[in-house]
Amino acid sequence: MPDEISAEAVARNVQHTRECIAEAARRSGRAEDDICLVAVSKYLPPDSPMLDALADAGCNVFGESRPQHFLDKLEIWPRASDVEWHMIGHLQRNKVRKVLPHVAMIHSVDSLRLLEAIDRIAEEEGLAPRVLLEVNISGDASKHGFSPVELEQTLDAAAKFTHVQVQGLMGMSGLYSDAEAARWEFASLRELRDRCRADCPDNVVLNELSMGMSRDYEIAIEEGATLVRVGSSLYRE
Ligand SMILES: *Cc1c(COP(=O)(O)O)cnc(C)c1O
Repeated sequence: MPDEISAEAVARNVQHTRECIAEAARRSGRAEDDICLVAVSKYLPPDSPMLDALADAGCNVFGESRPQHFLDKLEIWPRASDVEWHMIGHLQRNKVRKVLPHVAMIHSVDSLRLLEAIDRIAEEEGLAPRVLLEVNISGDASKHGFSPVELEQTLDAAAKFTHVQVQGLMGMSGLYSDAEAARWEFASLRELRDRCRADCPDNVVLNELSMGMSRDYEIAIEEGATLVRVGSSLYRE
C-alpha cells in the first residue's frame, strides 16, 4: 500500500502522466484522446483520501484487480458511481455476477469458460459488457492469459456470444523485461491483434489494446496501446 501523499502530489503525478501520454502519442503520430488513462486504484483502501484526489485531478476511469476490493470501494467511497470502473485482474467465474453490473470493461478475460460465464450472466442481467482477452505475451509461467493459438480458438468460439462485446486484447510485459524486451512484447501483441482482426467473427471488433503500466506505458503507447493501466507512479511523493 502506498504511503499517503498529499492531494497536490497526486494532482502533479496525474498531470505529469497525462503529459507523458500526450508526448508518446505525438511521437507515434496519434492523438492524445485516443489513449485512455486507467488510474489503477487497487493499492488504495476504500476510505483513502487519495481516491478523491485522483477524481479531483480529472481521473474518471479507475482500475481494480480484486473483486472484493472493488466492491468495498463501491460501498464505501461516496464518489464511486461518478467514475467508470475497469477490472484488470484475474476474475473467477463465481465473482462475475457480483461485479458485472458495476464494470464498464473487463481487461482480463483469460479463459473461454470465463467468457461464456460473462456472456450468460450478461444475458440474464440485460447487460452488454465490454471485454478484452488477455494474452500472455511474455510467456512468464506466473502470468494469466491465452497463448496466441488459444486466442485464435477463443475468437472463433466467440462468434456464438450475443451479449458480451469482445473489443480487443490486453497484455503485460514480462516481470524481467527491460525496455527493449517490453517494446518487442507490445509490438508482438499489436501484430497478433492485426492478424486476428483480419478474420475474426462479425461480432468481435478488436480496436482496443490495453498494454503498459507505470514502468512502460510510454513504450506501450508508441506500440499502439489505446488503454494504459497506471498505478504506482501516481502515488509517488
Ligand atoms: C497493478 C496493475 C497495474 C498497475 O501497475 P503499476 O506498476 O502500479 O503501474 C497494471 N495492470 C495490472 C494488470 C495490474 O495488476
